[in-house]
Amino acid sequence: MALVVQKYGGTSVATVERIKDIARKVVAAKESGHEIIVVVSAMAGETNRLLTLAHQVSEAPDERERDVLLASGEQVSTSLLTLAIRDLGHPARSFLGHQIRIETDNAYGKARIKSVDSTRIIQALKDGEIVVVAGFQGVDEEDNITTLGRGGSDTSAVAVAAALNAKVCEIYTDVEGVFTTDPDICPTAKKLDRISHEEMIEMASTGAKVLQIRSIELAKKFAVPVHVRSSFTDVQGTWLVEEDESMDSVLVSGVTYDKDEAKITILRVPDRPGLASQIFTPIAEANIIVDMIIQNASEDGTTDLTFTVPKADYKKAISLVEKTASVIQAKGVTVDPHIAKVSIVGVGMRTHAGVAAKMFQVLAREGINIEMISTSEIKISVVIDEKYTELAIRVLHAAFIEKQGNL
Ligand code: ADP
Ligand code: ASP
Ligand code: MG
Repeated sequence: MALVVQKYGGTSVATVERIKDIARKVVAAKESGHEIIVVVSAMAGETNRLLTLAHQVSEAPDERERDVLLASGEQVSTSLLTLAIRDLGHPARSFLGHQIRIETDNAYGKARIKSVDSTRIIQALKDGEIVVVAGFQGVDEEDNITTLGRGGSDTSAVAVAAALNAKVCEIYTDVEGVFTTDPDICPTAKKLDRISHEEMIEMASTGAKVLQIRSIELAKKFAVPVHVRSSFTDVQGTWLVEEDESMDSVLVSGVTYDKDEAKITILRVPDRPGLASQIFTPIAEANIIVDMIIQNASEDGTTDLTFTVPKADYKKAISLVEKTASVIQAKGVTVDPHIAKVSIVGVGMRTHAGVAAKMFQVLAREGINIEMISTSEIKISVVIDEKYTELAIRVLHAAFIEKQGNL
């Protein structure tokens, strides 16, 4: 008998019919002899609906109260799935984050899990029950409800799997696994049988939604076997694995995109020590995450400084930057929210030269202008005009993945 954690995403529990289907799937797994813990997301669209409501009653919703609201989405789906399982004649019990005690820090909206108390789950499993846990939510030290950030149910599932030493954490979603690029926008995307943690972290952090970054970090740290697969079929999906030598031969394993960032430029910043820190400190203090930064000094003793922030935060960032710009006597501030970051990811890049040059050539051939570039050991990202996103993905996928290997 193995202990299995199954996580179902929003589309898997989007309707009452889907919830009943999932209940049958869960029961079948239990009847095949496994102990089952299910982690559930809110019904598809629900978290967005709740967020919109919060913004309708408050211009800048208080973060604590917003988390109380957002956590309700998972409370509904958890309860509905438990009811559906019980109706099939199987004992099942639901738990919210605070009932198990999934303890997090107090960073509302992006809380990190500190510990999972497994006592009540173990007792329920001993009683022969299927355990259903609300994803995405926890409590801080003072019992305030917290949420883990978008896609956070993935992290809840891996954390529960780690705490209970589960044999596998199955992430059930609306695609058959992790693909070489988003299968929704590129029909030639191919499913990967396995992907290393490092590559998956880069893919998630450059926009592939399929797993939340933190869930991959936890899977690596606690050696939790993770299997991403479809809730609609029984085919094998993608396994997260430790990197091995055979992976080096693949130059690029994935192409990703992110349309959720905005670009801010401060013009003619005097080129003096301390000014970058003066610009970025207030942004950091406002808890705004800066992604790419480019600075290039010109001969007239000034420098233009360009960086990207999440679209959701760019208005707040602009008001902070405008204040600093006037203090330091920069020439002005411009913003462009219509950008996309397109990236190629692959551990093979560590050992191959010329990947960036080829990426730039492929984009140039389509007349796509590159506005910013950043690289890591296993990733190259470019910022382009948002309207070319799909085209860029298709041509990069064709050049690097469909014709593997020829630089
Ligand atoms: P869930 O609601 O099950 O958590 P998500 O919407 O968070 O599902 O993640 C699955 C979605 O991620 C897919 O529908 C797909 O459009 C998107 N996606 C983006 N990039 C990839 C990729 N490389 N492989 C698989 N899915 C991807
Ligand atoms: N319901 C949350 C979201 O939409 C968490 C999740 O689905 O993983 O982001
Ligand atoms: Mg998700």
